[in-house]
Amino acid sequence: MATVKAVRGTRDLLPPETELWNLIEATARQVFARYNFGEIRTPIFEDTGLFARSVGEETDIVSKEMYTWEDRARAQSEKTQSLTLRPENTAGVVRAYIEHGLGESGQLQKLYYVGPQFRRERPQKGRYRQFWQIGAEVIGPPSSGSESPLRDAEVLEMLATLLQELEITGWTLELNSVGSAADRAKYSDVLRAALVDVAPKMCGDCQRRAVTNPLRVLDCKVPEDQPIIESLPKIGDSLGKDSKDHFAQVTAALDAAGVPYKLNRRLVRGLDYYTRTTFEFTHGGLGAQNALLGGGRYDGLSEAIGGPKAPGIGFAIGLDRLVLTLQALESTQAPAPAAKADAYIASLGESLNAAALVLARELRRAGLRVELGDGSFRLKKSFEAADKIARRIVILGEDEHQSGILTVKDFTTGTQTKVPRAELAAYLARPAGE
Ligand code: AMP
Repeated sequence: MATVKAVRGTRDLLPPETELWNLIEATARQVFARYNFGEIRTPIFEDTGLFARSVGEETDIVSKEMYTWEDRARAQSEKTQSLTLRPENTAGVVRAYIEHGLGESGQLQKLYYVGPQFRRERPQKGRYRQFWQIGAEVIGPPSSGSESPLRDAEVLEMLATLLQELEITGWTLELNSVGSAADRAKYSDVLRAALVDVAPKMCGDCQRRAVTNPLRVLDCKVPEDQPIIESLPKIGDSLGKDSKDHFAQVTAALDAAGVPYKLNRRLVRGLDYYTRTTFEFTHGGLGAQNALLGGGRYDGLSEAIGGPKAPGIGFAIGLDRLVLTLQALESTQAPAPAAKADAYIASLGESLNAAALVLARELRRAGLRVELGDGSFRLKKSFEAADKIARRIVILGEDEHQSGILTVKDFTTGTQTKVPRAELAAYLARPAGE
């Protein structure tokens, strides 16, 4: 019978790699806390309409990549509902912001999240159908200062700090402004007009987008379309004075803080909700899927999904890609040896198993990392197992049990010692060989 395997584009994360995942998450949580962010956890599935109205009907995400199903009604009072596994988390956060009236406090809301997202993309290295994002949003009523370019600069400076704390070097921050909603509408018209002559030479998707949502033509990845896209009018030429001033203040603050960036006038990002500042951090070590994280400002998003005016800015980091980047950087250095347990407890005989559990519990309560063997193993087998996974072996035979004096062998030095039970935890806490 064929075995059941993880679904294409999904994967299991196993130890010890999961340690790296946890370390990254813990570092992110610490950094976000210093910038006064709090954690939000939104549901993994939402009403499909949420994504259509925020991310945008014409985006690749909504038009091709969502996991959507009709949820059956369980009772007469329930309606069937179209549900979707979240392809990103900003829409869910803004929905929660509206639903809980978070703007009513008048305060800026600073929220971060960590969790899986789902997109039916073509899987390859660094691109999965279930992937993880660490993201954050800064959102609030205009009176909270949510539109200020300082917010954009602060978020970007925080990201530079996070990458530094993770010891990720060699990244590039690419930065652009896609202008206000009005600028974007103006640019859409300019693009639509420019596309009339050239769109027939482009791919099917672009021919459609040229009419429905011309900005999305700029996301096209088809190689033959690139020279045409390169020749199209640039969004920078459609920016109004306010957008230009806003962007100039973002870059001035980044210059002052010493955060390096590169202007990329083509960076529009593949989601419809962005306005003004957009950005992406890329890393050369990632190969084809080189975007580590992306984000931008979304001043009209709350209103687009029926909420009050609530400008905001946010980002999402690809956690899978952070891990790949760190692994690539680490493999250029000496790999860290896997951490071994402080002790392996070998009971001699099944009748001592219960006593061994009590001893292990004592040592674990003292904060030690302890592996518990089994009394049915022969001593030789216990030694072999212990040598692989622990720094020391503690032998619990009938004599040791009665006398309270344990036999401990240190695998680094090869020495064997007798240690009174009361001193055992302190002894085992010492570095190997001491
Ligand atoms: P986006 O939500 O499209 O702005 O993406 C933000 C970040 O999430 C990207 O820069 C990637 O690092 C990561 N990401 C997006 N899609 C995937 C995917 N299918 N697999 C792995 N990471 C992804």
